Amino acid sequence: MTECLFCRIIDGQIPADIVHQTERVLAFRDIQPRAATHVLVIPRAHHASLTELADADQGLLAELFLVAREVARLEQVQDSGYRLVSNVGADAGQEVDHVHVHVLGGQRLGPVARPRD
Ligand code: 5GP
Ligand code: ZN
Repeated sequence: MTECLFCRIIDGQIPADIVHQTERVLAFRDIQPRAATHVLVIPRAHHASLTELADADQGLLAELFLVAREVARLEQVQDSGYRLVSNVGADAGQEVDHVHVHVLGGQRLGPVARPRD
């Protein structure tokens, strides 16, 4: 059994609230939403981060962002505005080592990044 949390969501071993999917990409709600709209967009194939995905498959990298845009349309935040975030590595606070793009919106968002302390 895979150790990767998001691979387990893709396999259906862990339930998720799916909002959109394509052959290669899955979008589901974050379990701990930090905005009115908070959806995660992930490739079905395991890649640890955006850095690794960029090395491995740039077409899939583009598809992640195209699906993120489609999620924004489906969630009706396309016109009000939304933010796409992908944390890479320790300083960014990446918790799950399966590349994902956060789609955040539905409310006024704070500054993009601020040092922790
Ligand atoms: P990161 O901090 O790696 O950029 O983002 C990981 C995200 O995954 C977090 O926002 C966290 O709330 C979310 N998350 C962690 N475990 C689960 C889970 O089991 N299900 C869902 N839907 N989201 C999760
Ligand atoms: Zn994985």
